[in-house]
Amino acid sequence: MAKYSTGLAFAKKMDKADPLKGFRKRFHLPKQKNGKPYIYLCGNSLGLQPKDTAAALQQELVDWQNFGVEGHFHAKNPWMPYHEFLTKAMAKVVGAKPIEVVVMNTLTVNLHLMMVSFYRPKGKRKKIVIEADAFPSDKYAVESQIKHHGLDPKKCLIELKAREGEECLREEDIKKVIDEQGDNIALIMLGNTNYYTGQFFDMKKITEWGHAKGCMVGFDCAHGAGNVELKLHDSGCDFAVWCTYKYLNSGPGSLGGAFIHERHAHDKDLPRFAGWWGHNKKTRFKMRDGFDPIPGVESWQLSNPPILSMAAIWASLKIYEEAGMKKLRKKATLLTGYLEFLVNQLGEDTVKIITPADPKQRGCQLSIQVKNADKKLFDLVTKEGVIADWREPDVIRIAPVPLYNSFEDVYRFSKSLEKAIKKFS
Ligand SMILES: *Cc1c(COP(=O)(O)O)cnc(C)c1O
Repeated sequence: MAKYSTGLAFAKKMDKADPLKGFRKRFHLPKQKNGKPYIYLCGNSLGLQPKDTAAALQQELVDWQNFGVEGHFHAKNPWMPYHEFLTKAMAKVVGAKPIEVVVMNTLTVNLHLMMVSFYRPKGKRKKIVIEADAFPSDKYAVESQIKHHGLDPKKCLIELKAREGEECLREEDIKKVIDEQGDNIALIMLGNTNYYTGQFFDMKKITEWGHAKGCMVGFDCAHGAGNVELKLHDSGCDFAVWCTYKYLNSGPGSLGGAFIHERHAHDKDLPRFAGWWGHNKKTRFKMRDGFDPIPGVESWQLSNPPILSMAAIWASLKIYEEAGMKKLRKKATLLTGYLEFLVNQLGEDTVKIITPADPKQRGCQLSIQVKNADKKLFDLVTKEGVIADWREPDVIRIAPVPLYNSFEDVYRFSKSLEKAIKKFS
């Protein structure tokens, strides 16, 4: 790892040479009581606010003031087709075709809608595969879908567990489950980037293994969207869902995204829960005809969407368009590698990174286990002016994001961690 070195001078040199360094000042950095900005390493939980967001919201507020309901057609950005303004940029972020992507609802809602269509237990094919340490909301959603079909989650849920003494899943173990139990599996639904370990799965391989056995395959990309290069279309997966408030910087509780592969775009018989916003745009307001789905994932929309939230998403996507996923990924790989380098300096008796060391198997986030630590250690890190994330029993999740984090942030975090560990022990 000769490419990194330990001093502050190295961090400053890297920041100076960073082609994306200009983006940091386009975000609001949360401030401490003493007026200094926090070292914010929590973009995997809630992304920071772009400075452009306020004006984007203001535009819609003003148009609402001036036009009332007519804003649907006469606002600067007419509300009627508003979601379409986001589609192209969002499709680029997740590596999909526009017909495969829509911004709608929220993440868990979208996960349910996708399972209504793609979890169709039949005969002996009834099971769902999920990670044992899946995000709780995903687990609840999956279990409740199983129950909704009158089935027993204890019998119909296959949880992928890491081997004894390991934290991450091995690909060969995932394959083994699919090969051995595939005939009984209706749906494979994994977090494509695990929220806890930060492990990023090869979606294409998993999809191929699943499809070879006749299973449907979907991914929760909450921790992937805007973080890793997703290539959803090429992966061949049937569906994916994600949120926009983590790496995509669109504000607390903002809308989610959904992907349905092109191969399902014109299948009007695919069962789905419907609402008026998924109906043929030409006849939507006749309000008489039977449901006539728009081709593609747009037909899974239910309601007319919250424009204020969409305005924030659009403002954020414009920044993604400017920066580009390739360049963001390039910086992120360096930045996370640097974090790994500095954390490992603390010694393996003190810390253990549970995220895979292979940059292709992770995004920005590193999950750091501090030996014998509890929440008090994390509180000491927080006192040093760092905003990060603690997961019981002993993991600190750190996500330096390439849009607004600097090498100096990572350096200062590593010093704060070192100091906190000394105080703690
Ligand atoms: C953040 C996250 C959620 C949160 O779901 P919401 O419906 O947006 O509240 C769910 N699943 C995963 C994997 C997440 O990372």
